[in-house]
Amino acid sequence: MGDNRLVRGIGVSPGVAFGPALVVRFDVPDVPNRAVPVEEVEHEVARLREAVNAVVAALEDLRDRVRVRAGAEESRIFDAQIMMAQDAVLLAEIERLIRDNHLSAETAYEFKSLEIRNLWGSSGNAILRDRLADLSAIQTRMLHHLLGKEEEDLWSSIGEPVIVVAHELSPGLTVQLDREHVAGLVSEEGTKTSHAAILAHSLGIPAVMGATGALKRINPGALVMIDGQSGTVLVDPTMAEQERIRAQISRRQRLEFELEAAIEQPGITPDGRSIMLMGNVDLPEEIESAARHRAQGVGLLRTEFLLVGRAVLPTEQEQTDYFLRVASAFPGQPIIIRSFDLGGDKFPAAFRAPPEANPFLGWRSIRVCLDQPEMFRVQLRAVLRAAADRPIQLMLPLVTRIDEVTATREILAEEAEALTKAGVRVARELPIGVMIETPAAVLVADHLAQVSSFFSIGSNDLVQYTLAVDRGNARLAHRFTPHHPAILRQLTTVLAAGNRAEIPVSVCGEMASDPLSCVLLIGMGYTRLSVAPPALALVKWIVRAVPYQVARQAAQTAMNMTSAEEVTACLHEAVRDHIDLRLLDGVAAKGSSD
Ligand code: PEP
Ligand code: MG
Repeated sequence: MGDNRLVRGIGVSPGVAFGPALVVRFDVPDVPNRAVPVEEVEHEVARLREAVNAVVAALEDLRDRVRVRAGAEESRIFDAQIMMAQDAVLLAEIERLIRDNHLSAETAYEFKSLEIRNLWGSSGNAILRDRLADLSAIQTRMLHHLLGKEEEDLWSSIGEPVIVVAHELSPGLTVQLDREHVAGLVSEEGTKTSHAAILAHSLGIPAVMGATGALKRINPGALVMIDGQSGTVLVDPTMAEQERIRAQISRRQRLEFELEAAIEQPGITPDGRSIMLMGNVDLPEEIESAARHRAQGVGLLRTEFLLVGRAVLPTEQEQTDYFLRVASAFPGQPIIIRSFDLGGDKFPAAFRAPPEANPFLGWRSIRVCLDQPEMFRVQLRAVLRAAADRPIQLMLPLVTRIDEVTATREILAEEAEALTKAGVRVARELPIGVMIETPAAVLVADHLAQVSSFFSIGSNDLVQYTLAVDRGNARLAHRFTPHHPAILRQLTTVLAAGNRAEIPVSVCGEMASDPLSCVLLIGMGYTRLSVAPPALALVKWIVRAVPYQVARQAAQTAMNMTSAEEVTACLHEAVRDHIDLRLLDGVAAKGSSD
């Protein structure tokens, strides 16, 4: 199928779909450059303020509708937009533009939006780029209002289920879609973390984003097939391809049905081995999803979102509140908070990080925290406070040296003492674990076990550092193989070190979410996995289908293989009698990072 009917993007909401394309252009309206006589300047300022009020009211209305349709977490997306629309600094600057340059309200608004767009768009920061969709949504609404244009109600005119194709999808538009009218979504902009992607996922609409060139290649009304897992879009499918996708859709529906049924079941293999399945939570939006999918706690609470894309560092109270909010969603279950894993492109604006030639070998993760005690101590205090009455634990990323753990312990002890002296209740004992993400950590796992309460394997980084394959490089994706014998050997070493020291060992990298890899891990003896919320049901379904003895045998055979491909083939062979592999067609993640 090596033809230009294929457009590749990022699968952001799983599922396959096909239908005629509804090409929509929610372009920001053209704004004529208009100056006004000086005596009308204050009138323009008043028009701007009136437009803000109207847009905020419309967004509040949308938020309430979203709460009903998609849930409370999703509705918070609009709180972010409302805040952005009301941003006092931004509005003051637009008013200044109007007054200083005698501009119309819409011209000034357009100028300012363009400036922010250029600033954010050129930033390497993924979160800022994602927030551009929010900015576009507000800009479009404001300009429509100021220019007196009605916004189109596209969705009421839709008949048969369509594939909506757009340059960029705002969450406001996405939430107005429903599965009855919209079979799938394609947009040229957007990533997995875009709000529109999160919403599409919650609404169960298959979606592909980042599909560069989609608008050029897809004519209105053309038949389009999309796969929201692999991120592929196929235009004008042949009859045979249509047949294939119909069969795939019906298999997908069967799988969805089986997964739904697995959610409420215990994670026990057919021969009685219990596997603890926890959730990875990156953003507040995912708390609800992890709880709904019955995660047994949070095995990896990423905290970077508290920093990235913000001008000021989060306060101790803000962090404490967030940790307590997560803990209250999983009463009595463990919450493993990972300290800030900054580095690479993940640096907050409040932070002046020097440019580096090799950011992934540079000032990252625990190294940054230990070098920036004023930031680290605030986070540690928040963890200590939140852990006073909750089974909260702390996890350190990218540890390569024992002293990184012991230094953290010392700081923690100091902070615990200071808080206690100040009359603040803190955790009496806070388990501190380390992420095993580098070959160095694997090789000294026995030493690390002496100073750690638990291990958690970050397979995304472990694969990257072991195989010298950049986890984000699409060109090397085929080389990013968690089934490489070098990884299998390390997985065995770490588990053995953990077992000898009698500390729990879990896997929280993407590998744990992959259907075949999770069988391998269970067969090796792992009994704790932490996976992204959407993968919880799938992993549970596999656990319940493949007997531990089968997994064990497969893992033993795999250990003698000399290539990742052989390992994968061996796992395939082992599970085929227990699960209908055709159901997983297109579902299997590669165990990669993103
Ligand atoms: C990992 O490296 O596997 C991991 C879980 O951490 P992150 O993906 O956040 O680097
Ligand atoms: Mg990592």
